[in-house]
Amino acid sequence: MCGILGLIDPGQAVVSELYRGGLALQHRGQDGAGLVVFDSRFHRLSGLGLLSELFRFKDPKNYPGSLGLVQLRYATAGEGSAEEVQPFVLSFPNGLALIHNGNLTNDASLRKLLEQRGYRRVNSLSDSETLLHVYADALTRQRALELSGLPRLPESAPENNEDLFEAARLTMMTCQGAFSVVMLIADRGLLAFRDPHGIRPLCMGRQGQKVAFASESVALDVIGLPLERDLLPGEAVFVDMQGNVHCRQLIPARPAHCVFEYIYLARPESVIDGHSVSAVRERLGQCLASRCTTANELQVVFDVPSSAEDAAISFAREVDLPYRKGIRKNPYSQRSFIAANQALRAGMVGTKFLFEKRVIDQQAVAVIDDSIVRGTTARRLVESLRQKGAWRVYFFSASPPVRHTCVYGIDMAVSSELAASTRNLEEMTHEIGVDHLQYQTLADLEDCLQGLPLCTACFSGNYPTAVDAEELEDIGRARAKVSAGAA
Ligand code: SF4
Repeated sequence: MCGILGLIDPGQAVVSELYRGGLALQHRGQDGAGLVVFDSRFHRLSGLGLLSELFRFKDPKNYPGSLGLVQLRYATAGEGSAEEVQPFVLSFPNGLALIHNGNLTNDASLRKLLEQRGYRRVNSLSDSETLLHVYADALTRQRALELSGLPRLPESAPENNEDLFEAARLTMMTCQGAFSVVMLIADRGLLAFRDPHGIRPLCMGRQGQKVAFASESVALDVIGLPLERDLLPGEAVFVDMQGNVHCRQLIPARPAHCVFEYIYLARPESVIDGHSVSAVRERLGQCLASRCTTANELQVVFDVPSSAEDAAISFAREVDLPYRKGIRKNPYSQRSFIAANQALRAGMVGTKFLFEKRVIDQQAVAVIDDSIVRGTTARRLVESLRQKGAWRVYFFSASPPVRHTCVYGIDMAVSSELAASTRNLEEMTHEIGVDHLQYQTLADLEDCLQGLPLCTACFSGNYPTAVDAEELEDIGRARAKVSAGAA
């Protein structure tokens, strides 16, 4: 998972708005941040850590240009080094910069292919750099056709930007997995495209000639751009230097949107693929309550802050119990789920949550969480609640058991780390140490999304793209190496 934002505003410097919009996406990645703007050349700034840290001693005037990109990195490929922080930039062809959210499942074979051709080497371990080279390769081929002097179809002339769309189409055909992409093409404009399944989100905001592409609509809110629409799966949108918008459906759409965006990843204020994230979370809480068989044993409802808050409030309303703040989040702690390894995660749970004995002591508490992935957070929370005097602890997961790895850019690629991959309900109840455990059913989860075509692979094992066993192992091995190395 990463946060990406591209912005073009003809005649205006965009760096300040990129910064503000980027801050609104910081929840999507805290490993690193990077920005590039373009006037007559690329001005790039990147590093490990938060976006605010990156800009602490920087003067925005040194980053001129009316178009640019910003990315908030959450490492799901590579080693998490500074070299892997986006945007990636290439000077040939044209001058290209790229930001990407997602994960390529065929990264290893693409690298081999690029190297075999003998003229492209992917320098970092990031699959986003691979993606940039694949696009650059496709665009170079378009240029070679031009230079050969061979007759071309009129619609492939650069003047009408069909060369950019054709390169995007070839990239979509070549890459597998999840990729929401925004590219800056020197002297030509911004190009955005989304993989044919639209696994990761990407929306567009526009006011006059000012246009932005963002992972979540909350970034558009912050920079004052109305949400126009989401890019369709398999679609590319190009905005030229005058702010004119050109759209192409390059590959037939086979939508399978990541359901985890609604459960946990996205901010509640965002609207993704036509669905309000907070409204989905409220429905998740209602569904949990409708199947709750222990309501008369409960006294108070807590959420695990903050992505379960909306679900907990609606759950409490449905079972007619008070919703209280028994668990609060330390705002200066990072999200533990996206910490780089298990040791860091375990340590962070202890500092991330603060508990109020006054509302916990002697109570039978219902704890609503968005999901149980590794079980680390749930186990530590339950221990802390008991230390603060909770009489009984009932745990409710707003999503079904996470049993399968995610190969599309969420850090759940090592199946042995998923607590429910080898445990049934009774074993999970014991594992996290609760008196009662209830999961959302997959059918109820799908109902809460009201017919939206979904990827639910981490719950169901049904992957929307072809993923062979070797690729699964490659991705799992790479993540395990990062966890072990950083630990
Ligand atoms: S496997 Fe799960 S987390 Fe990964 S894209 Fe699909 S729904 Fe999202």
